[in-house]
Amino acid sequence: MRLTALHRRLHPEDPHVPDLARLERPRLSSLEALYVLLSSTSAEIGHDFFQPLVSQLASALRVSSALVGELSPGRDSLNTLALCVDGGFRRSVSWPLRGTILEQVVTHGSRHLPEGVRSHFPEDPVLQQLKAEGFLGVTLKDAQQKPLGILAVAHTEPLDAGLIDYALLGALAARAGAELARLRVQAELERTRDFLRNTLNALPDPVFVKDRAHRFVILNSAFCRVFERTEQELLGMSDYDLVPAQEADLFWKKDEEVFAAGQPRENEETLTDGSGSSRILNTKKAPFTAGGGEPFIVGIIRDVTEWRRLEMQLRLTDRMASVGMLAAGVAHEINNPLAYISSNLTYVAEHLAHEELTPTQLTELRDAVLESLEGASRVRVIVQDLKSFARADDESQGSVDVHRVIEGALRLVRNEVHHRARLTRSFEPVPAVRGNEARLGQVLVNLLVNALQAFPPERLAEQNSVNIATRSRGEWILIEVEDNGQGMSPEVQRQIFEPFFTTKPVGIGTGLGLSICNNLIRIMGGWIEVQSNPGWGSTFRLVLPTFAPKSDAPAATASTGREKTGAQGLRRKVLLIDDEPAVGTAVRRLLRDYHEVESLQDAREALKRIANGTKYDAIVCDVMMPEMTGVQFFMELERSAPELARRTGLMSGGVFSPHAIEFIESRAVELLHKPFEREGLRKFVERLCASIP
Ligand code: ADP
Repeated sequence: MRLTALHRRLHPEDPHVPDLARLERPRLSSLEALYVLLSSTSAEIGHDFFQPLVSQLASALRVSSALVGELSPGRDSLNTLALCVDGGFRRSVSWPLRGTILEQVVTHGSRHLPEGVRSHFPEDPVLQQLKAEGFLGVTLKDAQQKPLGILAVAHTEPLDAGLIDYALLGALAARAGAELARLRVQAELERTRDFLRNTLNALPDPVFVKDRAHRFVILNSAFCRVFERTEQELLGMSDYDLVPAQEADLFWKKDEEVFAAGQPRENEETLTDGSGSSRILNTKKAPFTAGGGEPFIVGIIRDVTEWRRLEMQLRLTDRMASVGMLAAGVAHEINNPLAYISSNLTYVAEHLAHEELTPTQLTELRDAVLESLEGASRVRVIVQDLKSFARADDESQGSVDVHRVIEGALRLVRNEVHHRARLTRSFEPVPAVRGNEARLGQVLVNLLVNALQAFPPERLAEQNSVNIATRSRGEWILIEVEDNGQGMSPEVQRQIFEPFFTTKPVGIGTGLGLSICNNLIRIMGGWIEVQSNPGWGSTFRLVLPTFAPKSDAPAATASTGREKTGAQGLRRKVLLIDDEPAVGTAVRRLLRDYHEVESLQDAREALKRIANGTKYDAIVCDVMMPEMTGVQFFMELERSAPELARRTGLMSGGVFSPHAIEFIESRAVELLHKPFEREGLRKFVERLCASIP
């Protein structure tokens, strides 16, 4: 009875409990059972596990066939994982369960029919195929006791089974069930992994995951294409294995910032790819922690090289269009002072030809010269504004005096404004903003030109108004350009920032202005707001961050670090090098009351004199010269007379080459922009001499 109770515990649903006499006659000895059990528990895992299992089971129980199968997801059929018949393996088959003994195994958990099994299930294809007389089968279950499959033996003769046989079958079923569940989890994991990999590979942008040691642990195929290497080659590498050390240093630093901040970051980086060419990449990186608490970074890269190139081209195109439009106005601005400068100078020249001058004539002459000077200074300012407006290569961000930029932009469009509208200013005292002076000037000129073009043609200038206002709003500065022009419909407003959207006739509108303005302001960390009423006018509001200097950086000033000292007032010996002799003469005249100036036109001659022992307190050298440039001269001097190089400054009237800019910034060379006035020049020389004890 105890044995029957044990069997019931093992197989609670089985109503066909065999009689005790049978249970006491096991088919295999306990030793044999132990052997089968041990060898199957130490067997390989994976699909290879099932074949040895069924063959061992068939031979241990001395039955003609043994099988293990997996239930289909709907549990209406069984797919064999291993089927052993008469000592040989059969290929995998699928049996429908309905009306078969297998269905009863699934329903009851186990089923044993010692004999006549085929007559009980005459329609059962499995039993027919196996020519079964006796049958014993149990269900394979997962950890939640859900049926997964069946382990069964069948025999062509009556099949008795003792308690040991039951126990062995139960133990093997538990082992096979665990294995099947494990295989399913593994298949599910592989499916998920494949799904994720396919998702990553479908992305056209390179994606990567780096571990805390900055090694690549996950990559997609777009990433592999950038470096022309396989995923296997790249996994485990770091940036140092892929790009020049300088770039890798920067990537490392940026990764560390993301790990430290625990926040996503976006930055633009230059990368030298497998072919050695440089690309501009926009990289977004975000930190995350894996299940085990290990930190990682996931990054997505977008190649913006072409976009940046196009953007630069568009900016230039737009600037050229605006410059073209401004040319007439600027010519007017320059021609006016030029007209009275030249007539004044003619007057002065004629009177100086006389032998004697009366005191009245002398006063008139002095006034004529002073007026000419004022005129020249107006020309200088307008040229300065144009120069900064047209500067293509300087995109640096720094402290910008908003009112100065507004006045510069207004000077450029003064003539246009004068003829088209009344201009008012509502300025509040505002701190400097962070941005780029030239680019902010470009944006303002664009907004002003748009405002001027928004007035209905039939209206008189005195009915049209443009107001420029500045205000502070917390950490932000607002610059508003308001007009009472025709305004914009909501439909137009929705599209104004799109490139090439214009409502103006061909030849007047390019549709690029606002899209570029938007971009420029975005780069400065701000944005543009627009309010407009059709028929009433529009307000464009630039919102820009105030400038917060970095604590370790010196405040942004024209000086590059050498401070003015008590050197002021001492007469110095200054060497001026400029291939234009008139510049030398002018500088000599401007400085002769303060310093002794020697001027040369060739930097090589200057080097010779210095080598021969001529002493100078300071040198001012032009950058653009035909034989030897200012930068070459400076480099030579650094080598031959480093002390004097520290008292040498460069001057230029034009746009510098990127190489010259890099050099000047790297050495913190003092820089003087032409044209200059006496005070500017004098202070420049003083700064150069500041280091003399
Ligand atoms: P463009 O001036 O070459 O057309 P923009 O990008 O500067 O290109 O402007 C796009 C459009 O926005 C203009 O064509 C015009 O319809 C509208 N717009 C811009 N500024 C104003 C304004 N102040 N008043 C009315 N409409 C404006």
